[in-house]
Amino acid sequence: MAQSHWNIGRVEYWNVGPIFSFAHHSIIPTFHHSYSGVEESKMIDRKHGYYDRKKEKMSKREREAYLQKRLSEILRYGYRHSKSVRSRFDAVRLMPKEIRNLKDLEKLPITKKADLVTAQKETPPLGGFEVIPRDGLRRIYISPGPVFEPGEWDYKDIRWAQGLYACGMRKGDIVLNTFNYHLTPLAFMLDESLQMLGATVVPIGPGNLSMQIQLMRHLRITGFLGIPSFLMAIVEAAEGMHLDFKKDLHLKAAFVGAEMFPESLREKLEGKLEILIRQAYGTVDVGCLGYECPEKNGMHIPEDVIVEIVDTDTGRQLELGATGEIVATTFSKVFPMIRFATGDLSYLIEDPCPCGRTSMRLGKILGRTDQVTKVGGIFIHPWQVDEMMAKFPVVTNYQVVVTRKEYRDEMTIYIELKEEVSDKISLKIRLGKEVQEVLKVKGEVVFVTRGGIPDRAKKIDDRRIWE
Ligand SMILES: [Zn+2]
Repeated sequence: MAQSHWNIGRVEYWNVGPIFSFAHHSIIPTFHHSYSGVEESKMIDRKHGYYDRKKEKMSKREREAYLQKRLSEILRYGYRHSKSVRSRFDAVRLMPKEIRNLKDLEKLPITKKADLVTAQKETPPLGGFEVIPRDGLRRIYISPGPVFEPGEWDYKDIRWAQGLYACGMRKGDIVLNTFNYHLTPLAFMLDESLQMLGATVVPIGPGNLSMQIQLMRHLRITGFLGIPSFLMAIVEAAEGMHLDFKKDLHLKAAFVGAEMFPESLREKLEGKLEILIRQAYGTVDVGCLGYECPEKNGMHIPEDVIVEIVDTDTGRQLELGATGEIVATTFSKVFPMIRFATGDLSYLIEDPCPCGRTSMRLGKILGRTDQVTKVGGIFIHPWQVDEMMAKFPVVTNYQVVVTRKEYRDEMTIYIELKEEVSDKISLKIRLGKEVQEVLKVKGEVVFVTRGGIPDRAKKIDDRRIWE
């Protein structure tokens, strides 16, 4: 498969979106490569244990008390130090002390991504959400919107590390990080989290399949991080090279994310690689919100964040099990997000999990609350399509259709023209270039006759079936 398909350097430019996975054997002999040329054999249990046993096994009561304490701390702190957090309280005439428990949290307004974008336009660069002076930042990340996010000097958030551990990553692993190190924070957060685990990172980023495979062999890579369809592409490329997964590759744990991960793809990858694959969920704005354990029955919500499932219109919390929008409150003292709406839909599971972790879990990610569609890990907004087509006066009607073939997203842009043009081929090339440039995803441009796109057709029609 052509490498260009991967939009090298841009794969998850538009948000983290759902899901991360780690693949692992339960108990397997692992050969750790040492550069002195000596190989030592070790039995590594990738299926049991906890990154932070004390936190992950808290009783319900302990957990509630812990979250309440952290919530009240961050609300007071945010109120004092963050202009935007304070304005959220002012809008409903409340003081931090009036939010006494997790249920009270719903009295505060939801912050949508669009609010963040607007605030940052008005008060650049960070919109007043930040609580530290600008010269105290290590990095400024840029996510779709655009949204600017501060990178902390000292990254201490353990939520991704918990997810990585639950998925099978261990100290001593050599991990290929194929997430994008360009602009967005995800690859960096994971990089730092792997350090917490004591794993070695190869910061390769996306693209360049043959180099990925070469490195996997040469460095005896045991862990993989990336989007699931990219892992599939690597597997296919390795098959094309007639490699034997067990003999030639040493993968023990594979972490995939930033796009939907259908069970059929999981089964296929697990079958070929003979490793388990686990996923987690998070966004660039609020970090990790859930991760799967070996039991594969929902995503455990890490302890250092509050996740609510709410009615998108009212912001009220929904009863256990009901489907609603995932809203998160973080405890970051650099960029606190209070009731940040992710735009993703899911539900909560409370039944005990055999793995021993006591947290509530997020069920499947069921879709987006708005029209935004994610293609190949990248968000496509209807307004982007409008803006793009406004540059072509000859285009009168258009529709983006997203389908899925062989576990890969495909995007087709159907276009009706006002009048016949003499050079359709060059118009098609120009449109294709514009699509790639604006949407950051490759799409096929197809001209249809006038009236070929039905009236009131969705601007972006997502025809993918997830099973
Ligand atoms: Zn579990």
